[in-house]
Amino acid sequence: MAEIIKNIILKGNYRYHLKFSKELDKINKIENIPKYPVLILTCMDPRININEIFQFNLGDVFVLRNAGNLYTLDVLRSIILAIVKYDIKYIVVLGHLDCGMTKINLNEFREKLPIKFLSSLTQNYHEHIPKLRSFFKPFVDEIQNIKEQIKSLELIKEFYPETEISGMLYDVETGLAFEYEKIKDYKNIESFRQHYKEILAYKKNQFTDFLEEIEPKNIIIDNSNDHSQDIELNEYINSSISENEDKSNKISKIELDDMKDKLKNNNSTIIPKISIPKIQFHGVKIYIPKIYTEKRKISIDSENK
Ligand SMILES: [Zn+2]
Repeated sequence: MAEIIKNIILKGNYRYHLKFSKELDKINKIENIPKYPVLILTCMDPRININEIFQFNLGDVFVLRNAGNLYTLDVLRSIILAIVKYDIKYIVVLGHLDCGMTKINLNEFREKLPIKFLSSLTQNYHEHIPKLRSFFKPFVDEIQNIKEQIKSLELIKEFYPETEISGMLYDVETGLAFEYEKIKDYKNIESFRQHYKEILAYKKNQFTDFLEEIEPKNIIIDNSNDHSQDIELNEYINSSISENEDKSNKISKIELDDMKDKLKNNNSTIIPKISIPKIQFHGVKIYIPKIYTEKRKISIDSENK
């Protein structure tokens, strides 16, 4: 097993070296490291690729990672180094949805840990769970966690008051990062989920502005894929409001889970979805995601392909 993995890693590195050699000119032109005075503290989740998410290049920003994007003594060590040596001015705690740290059951976890490790924490069986909690620091809520980590990091401002500390919430299913100003008012992840459609609607407006900004006249959205049955997000929200006037007008997590179940059992349902329309730009076809809500037949078979 280790041999196979080693081979995958080595071959990957040769492919990278090949690419690297071709881009040496560009790489050698990196003068200031990092290009932006930014440090991002994020989770070790393998679905997070900072350079891809923000379209950064090699050398653009510092990235610190650990399980759950947590403030630790070692994170503080690296941040202060980065501030002193590289003049970092902006720190972002990038949490993400579906974080594995919210799915840790300490009782089950304990069963999987070697006795030697457990007894290194404590000899007392009854102290295992509290000790494990303080060692692994699992949490239940991604939004509350971001707020807590920001709060802990605020101590840096005592030494470096000009340092800005902010947060973001990354959605591993859509590739969208929600800015702190938009998430901080939600007291927890449940409340965020309940307002998810409104938040997406806001994102859609921002995205439209972005498209207009990059080149208003040259963009032709190619809707050649059959989206004729799609309904726009705003319309969807309005319709769901009229359907659920006596409810809170919001889609709850239970309803979302219900939708997912329906998707598994039924080939027709309504789910929030990100489509990737083709966009013509200066004669070059690029792909830019467009947020929308769709109402169409979904073939489980074709989804699985
Ligand atoms: Zn995570």
